[in-house]
Amino acid sequence: MTSDATRNLWRATRQNCDGYPRVSQDICTDLLVIGGGFTGSSAALEAARSSADVVVLEANTIGHGGSGRNVGLVNAGLWVPPEGIIKQLGQTEGMRLTTALASAPDTVFDLIEREGIECEATRNGTLHLAHAPSGLRDLKDRLRQGKQIDAPIQLLDAKETARRTGSDAFLGALFDPRAGTIQPLEYCRGLAKAAKNKGAKVFEQSPAQHVTHDGSEWIVRSNENTLRAKHLLLATNGYHAGTEGQSGPQFVTIRYSQFATAPMTCEQRARILPGGEGCWDTAMVMSSFRVNQEGRLIVGGIGDCDGRGATIHARWAARKMAEVFPELSGKAFDYTWQGTIAMTGDHLPKAVRIGPNGLTVFGYSGRGIGPGTVFGKQAARALLFDEVDGMPSTITETPHLEPFKFLRSLYFETGATLVHALSR
Ligand SMILES: Cc1cc2nc3c(=O)[nH]c(=O)nc-3n(C[C@H](O)[C@H](O)[C@H](O)COP(=O)(O)OP(=O)(O)OC[C@H]3O[C@@H](n4cnc5c(N)ncnc54)[C@H](O)[C@@H]3O)c2cc1C
Repeated sequence: MTSDATRNLWRATRQNCDGYPRVSQDICTDLLVIGGGFTGSSAALEAARSSADVVVLEANTIGHGGSGRNVGLVNAGLWVPPEGIIKQLGQTEGMRLTTALASAPDTVFDLIEREGIECEATRNGTLHLAHAPSGLRDLKDRLRQGKQIDAPIQLLDAKETARRTGSDAFLGALFDPRAGTIQPLEYCRGLAKAAKNKGAKVFEQSPAQHVTHDGSEWIVRSNENTLRAKHLLLATNGYHAGTEGQSGPQFVTIRYSQFATAPMTCEQRARILPGGEGCWDTAMVMSSFRVNQEGRLIVGGIGDCDGRGATIHARWAARKMAEVFPELSGKAFDYTWQGTIAMTGDHLPKAVRIGPNGLTVFGYSGRGIGPGTVFGKQAARALLFDEVDGMPSTITETPHLEPFKFLRSLYFETGATLVHALSR
């Protein structure tokens, strides 16, 4: 089997190949960030911009987790529409989260511009595609809810959807002009590089192995070194790996796989998603479609392409592509990779206190580019400057628990495998 570096399109095609050293000495710092994804890198950038001393410990390489594996759709808000968020959190708290994340694409695209991050940023919106009459009804309801918060979204009919996608497989689409697409690994690495250029100390291959608070400061062991910090952000999310002394975030795991073709011909590019919108559909076991800058079509779906259902998921992707874009039927996939999505029971992100001056943020439930950037930035400000009101949601003081998480993870993978096996 080939390595993730050659199978993951984002890793294979990245231009920013800056490496960072392993931590090799004892360090004292204001803020220690564990995990170098969107959350940790955004927090480090904000801290460094505010002239704080900040250290990032990444167990693997920057963007190793969900941030370097995702679809690259920079969406506004969460999967759960506003009324669902309010139902879970109440009016005030629900609107706080909804409002904070509605403008998340502005935060992401402004950062990309301000820091000059080269990440194939394309702000031409996204299309949520109706796969069936039930999906169209769902989109109409999302439109109604979006209009209540003045979201500039638009429902497209089947004809306009076919024109924009190059496919007549859909009954309509919800277009969100606030959104866009990026090369997610480049964005993540760009955030870390900007943080480093502003004074952050970034370390790769440096797992936080032991994490405790001694009553006055955080003490973290990594590569046989001791790091002491006044403030700690645990930003390990769905890729949390053993921090003895400190329990990690709790979530249900969903694997999501992607399949990228060779670059399409110029004629195909002119027909298939010519505007470059990123897409996903309304099916319960959803699919995503997007094109990257080289003109590769990237098909995504729930399921683990490295697991027992690998062949089933790969065959499904080929069938799905042929069904949606018949002219690409039979086109081989050059890249196939998967990532772990950290889902919470209510599909809402969690910001949880883990001790004095310590926070963990996780569970974006498949919507982490905007939320990770915003939560990371605001978590750094909450820790360093006590600006807790700037957080998109209230910090909870008790651990977040996810009952039966192993069974629920198994249910998602088994369900996706069955649906993919049976779909024709
Ligand atoms: C396949 C897939 C598709 C997705 N598509 C989209 C999308 O299109 N749009 C969107 O908005 N969101 C999407 N998401 C969600 C999004 O990618 C995640 O929510 C986001 O990447 C989470 O960022 P993070 O920084 O919190 O965590 P991660 O990116 O997972 O980073 C956590 C980091 O912590 C490190 N780490 C773990 N343990 C330790 C330790 N002990 N010491 C040091 N470091 C440690 C890991 O190596 C990892 O790099 C997708 C996710 C996946 C998996």
